[in-house]
Amino acid sequence: MPMDQAIDSYFKTFSVPPEVVAFVSRPIGHFIDGRETAVAGAELDLVEPFTRRRLTGLVNGTAADADRAVRAARGALEGPWGRMPALERQRLILRLADTLEADAEFLAHLEAIDVGKSISDARAIDVPGAVANFRYFAGWSSKLDGRTAGAVALPGETLTYTVKEPVGVVAAIVPWNFPLQTLAWKLAAALACGCTVVCKPSELTPLSAMRLAQLASEVGFPDGVINVVNGLGHVIGQALAAHPGVDKLSFTGSTPVGKAVGKTALDTMKRLTLELGGKSPVIVTDRADLGRAAEAILAGIFLNSGQVCDAGSRVYVQDGVHDALVERLRAGAEALTLGPGLDPAARITPLISGAHRDRVLDHIASAHSEGAKLVTGEPGTGTRRDDGILRPTIFDECAETMRVFREEIFGPVLGISAFTTLDEAVARANSGDFGLAAAVYSGDVDETIRLSRRLRAGNVYINAHGLIDPAMPFGGLGASGFGKDMGPEQLDGFLSTKSIYVQVGTA
Ligand code: NAD
Repeated sequence: MPMDQAIDSYFKTFSVPPEVVAFVSRPIGHFIDGRETAVAGAELDLVEPFTRRRLTGLVNGTAADADRAVRAARGALEGPWGRMPALERQRLILRLADTLEADAEFLAHLEAIDVGKSISDARAIDVPGAVANFRYFAGWSSKLDGRTAGAVALPGETLTYTVKEPVGVVAAIVPWNFPLQTLAWKLAAALACGCTVVCKPSELTPLSAMRLAQLASEVGFPDGVINVVNGLGHVIGQALAAHPGVDKLSFTGSTPVGKAVGKTALDTMKRLTLELGGKSPVIVTDRADLGRAAEAILAGIFLNSGQVCDAGSRVYVQDGVHDALVERLRAGAEALTLGPGLDPAARITPLISGAHRDRVLDHIASAHSEGAKLVTGEPGTGTRRDDGILRPTIFDECAETMRVFREEIFGPVLGISAFTTLDEAVARANSGDFGLAAAVYSGDVDETIRLSRRLRAGNVYINAHGLIDPAMPFGGLGASGFGKDMGPEQLDGFLSTKSIYVQVGTA
């Protein structure tokens, strides 16, 4: 099928390399057992977020496809991958990291085209973040030792020790906002631990997962170690969650879907990690450096047009600096460049879909009707643009009773509220169901440490927002889920510990 004219002219404007055009315009199938499957049967539309036109077709996978992928993963686990020495596994993961790095431009284009996100961000964050994660976890492959324990109550002479074994076949279900990076967060540690993986990308953003699987195969990963099954979440994701051949489910996505998937996974007693949504609070005290705070707060909410799980979406600012901070945030938001993802200058890009844009607009309308005060941005009605870009929007005088201050919006919308005492700020920041992240801005070191300890969140940023490092565990509390991605803490999620007892006979 010829490429849609609007997409063709968009790609030409930004000189998309021909090999990328070829990759994104062919029908997308699955990647199972070392090869991409031909697309047969019904196809889903893959829509480019800026033009809102059909880019290509995506296979509408079935439970049988998921089953084939799980069997391939099991075969690899019991075959070449399971027998591979740890150092060889480490070498392959490092090779994959190098290959992804060499492919950075290609991958950054895929993310910009698929998600509609800023290509500058994809170059600076998504791809290097994925590469760093593989590099970090590669080293763990050869350091997964058990321990020799001295038995403390057994009679006679014994030798007691533990060994760490891969948990088995992992299903990695990921969302659309950082498709490559969130997949790398699961894949790198799972591979390091010796597991095999069935990846389920979002049906909105399958491209980078397919590219990664292809590259992994080229660098020598045995068939079946990394599989990608495409299709609808409630079909493929559900099939993987229910599949008795899947040993561990690592899910990143929304809280309602995470809860449902988790319940299904427990029916077959899978190990489970749930990285879910957030409504992260930000506290700015009278002692903050306002220039620094405003810059980080703007990046913390408007990166990826607000489609970020740990976006700092509710700001609590102390009375003494309230007006000055609001003014800085207003000016900063109004200076952000709007444009399509492939434009390197664009900071605010289209939302993932028309349906999502309408959901965000509904939140904005509710903020207006519930009495929040618009500082800048979308007036609420009659503002739909065809390209799905929403202006960065800030409301002041928000309260926890308002949806804008309570619910995850996942768009470029920031709520602000003034506070008087730090106790009040902490109580209000800790209200609500989520517990993914929080941020504190203050020039007083003691104050920042004290506040960081009192905040109910899995990640706390001080005078910054959204810092991510492969050596640091990432994950939430409460409605934001449980378990960790990244850091040594993640390894336990992909390993089983076996205790071995040896009774030593008498001479
Ligand atoms: P989503 O829950 O709709 O979908 C996530 C994944 O689950 C997709 O692959 C989807 O196809 C699949 N899925 C959908 N329905 C399913 C079902 N019934 N059974 C099994 N799988 C199903 O989330 P989304 O809209 O893709 O992503 C946005 C959400 O992800 C936000 O809530 C955001 O906060 C969250 N997120 C969290 C983190 C984190 O690390 N905590 C990171 C990124 C995104």
